[in-house]
Amino acid sequence: MSRSEFGSAEIIDGKALAATIRAGLGVEIAGLRAAGRLQPGLAVVLAGEDPASRIYVRNKTAACAEVGIRTFDHRLAADVSETELLALIAALNQDPEVDGILVQLPLPPGIDARRVLLAVDPRKDVDGFHPQNLGKLLMGEPDLVACTPLGVMRLLEHAGTPLDGADAIVVGRSNIVGKPMAALLLSANATVTVAHSRTHDLPARVRQADVVIAAAGRPELIRGDWIKEGATVIDVGTNRTPAGKLLGDVAFAEAVGRARAITPVPGGVGPMTIAMLLSNTLLAARRRAAGAA
Ligand code: NAD
Repeated sequence: MSRSEFGSAEIIDGKALAATIRAGLGVEIAGLRAAGRLQPGLAVVLAGEDPASRIYVRNKTAACAEVGIRTFDHRLAADVSETELLALIAALNQDPEVDGILVQLPLPPGIDARRVLLAVDPRKDVDGFHPQNLGKLLMGEPDLVACTPLGVMRLLEHAGTPLDGADAIVVGRSNIVGKPMAALLLSANATVTVAHSRTHDLPARVRQADVVIAAAGRPELIRGDWIKEGATVIDVGTNRTPAGKLLGDVAFAEAVGRARAITPVPGGVGPMTIAMLLSNTLLAARRRAAGAA
């Protein structure tokens, strides 16, 4: 972490932490390969031409190559049918070289994302989106956990933020960020408030929180004067302005003077999400290898 030039908060450097995690994974995977044990493989399914999705997929594929994870690219046309996509998932579920399956969201209109995600073998669900994996997390028996919330937990740990008994607020209740985030914080003994678009008086609720996780997808929704002095603020939001600038869900320049520690956008949560995808892929590969032995 580095001290901010704006105010008193520590800036939590997700980019550096993710690089350290990737380096560790690279060493681990090289060791496994040298011992002839296994080389993890990730199937990456991208349907359609969404420009942001193409960039995400490119970044994830490059990160896999860096640590020694093989990728199998499946690019599908925007007019692919749900039946074809489900047939591909079924084949990938059976493929012994594939340890993890990543279906890049959003899927083209006309395809039921829920059905597609349900079709992924939970043991290969490295995004942690399958109901079985989300259910295990809620039961306090985490298996493959969604990458972004997992990355947030690593950032909190890195920032030395105490969670036991802390008041935490998660702003956003999506199945892929807000809900698993709340479950992880609860497992760490925080008292968790989950806020959403119908929540009354969000500023008052944020003001009470020692830990703020912003995942609403609303640029600079959370203002600096909502932040309790000394709180830790993790900004998941990635909002592109019409001018092409990337903004978080937190007004960073305001919040940095009040928080004890805060993540920037970009360079906070984003790189950690990718690092956790790699980590989940290695976990899935190890489990499969152990199961096959
Ligand atoms: P989503 O649209 O599925 O969910 C947004 C949630 O925010 C909803 O539960 C909604 O009720 C809540 N919300 C919306 N407006 C609100 C308001 N004014 N006050 C309180 N709550 C409000 O989004 P998502 O998939 O959960 O993603 C959230 C944000 O995180 C987006 O900006 C997304 O781009 C970003 N994201 C970043 C990463 C990363 O790796 N950095 C990964 C996933 C998502």
